Amino acid sequence: MNLSPLQKEIIALLRERKAILLVHYYQRREIQEIADFLGDSLALCMEAAQTDAKIIVFAGVHFMAESAAILCPDKTVLIPRPDAGCPLADTITPEQLKKAKEDHPEATVVTYINSTAEIKALSDICCTSANALDVIGSIRNAKEILMVPDGNLARYTARFTDSKILPWEGVCPVHQALTPEEVRSRKTEHPDALFIAHPECRPEVLQLADFVGSTAAMLKFVHRSNRKSFIVGTESGILVRMEKENPGKILIPAAEHLICETMKYTTLEDIHAVIKDMKHVVTLDEQKRLRALSCLKKMLALSEAPVQPR
Ligand code: SF4
Repeated sequence: MNLSPLQKEIIALLRERKAILLVHYYQRREIQEIADFLGDSLALCMEAAQTDAKIIVFAGVHFMAESAAILCPDKTVLIPRPDAGCPLADTITPEQLKKAKEDHPEATVVTYINSTAEIKALSDICCTSANALDVIGSIRNAKEILMVPDGNLARYTARFTDSKILPWEGVCPVHQALTPEEVRSRKTEHPDALFIAHPECRPEVLQLADFVGSTAAMLKFVHRSNRKSFIVGTESGILVRMEKENPGKILIPAAEHLICETMKYTTLEDIHAVIKDMKHVVTLDEQKRLRALSCLKKMLALSEAPVQPR
């Protein structure tokens, strides 16, 4: 691959500082190209906890870099764009969660990783879209499970459990914007294509899906499938990796508007500046970090390759 001078300069700076660049699948193509590690929220979390590097540059949105900082107090986590938030994470405040817990005192609180450290600190266990079913399955004797903040993920998970799931009514605006009409129209245009969707999509869209899974699961599904065409129902950034892994396959975005604005804030220039000047360090109150860590550790303990966060 031919890298640009700026990409090469960033790689040189990362090596000089003994830092690594963690990149989410929804980031811009030119950033994915220079990732030391590319992954979904769960994989990035695990990589942050396992790496020997003392400096982590996190190209993603804020809650992701914050999760790395929760897991790695002995490492310096830099976020190139501190203003890159997640509108889904912003759909619940600590006060709202405290009130919901008062209203449902016996409920176990399962919090999607797309949440702030404050929300994680008030929760029992974390989950991602890759492991939500395992997390719910690990909870014994729960009368009720309060799943926050993504209502669509909660409703999707509820289909596979007898536990009573109480969904918080937050949504990811990117996935929520995909309509069943758009999916039907794409299916009509591409009758041989399988439709794959992320569980953050609305239930009416998921009903049309041939496969529902996290970004990592969608990548695996397309790679293993012997079908040729896929309509992809998640943020368009995933197509960079999907195309690379599947040169002969036809990958069609379910809609052109599946673009997360804040995921695209981060540019190569931002990454260069942050590593050059060692700025935008993610910091956390220690008490809050420890409470949020407990929530994340319980989830990671269920992962296939358990890590040892401090
Ligand atoms: S795609 Fe949705 S859930 Fe992911 S960062 Fe963007 S707004 Fe948040």
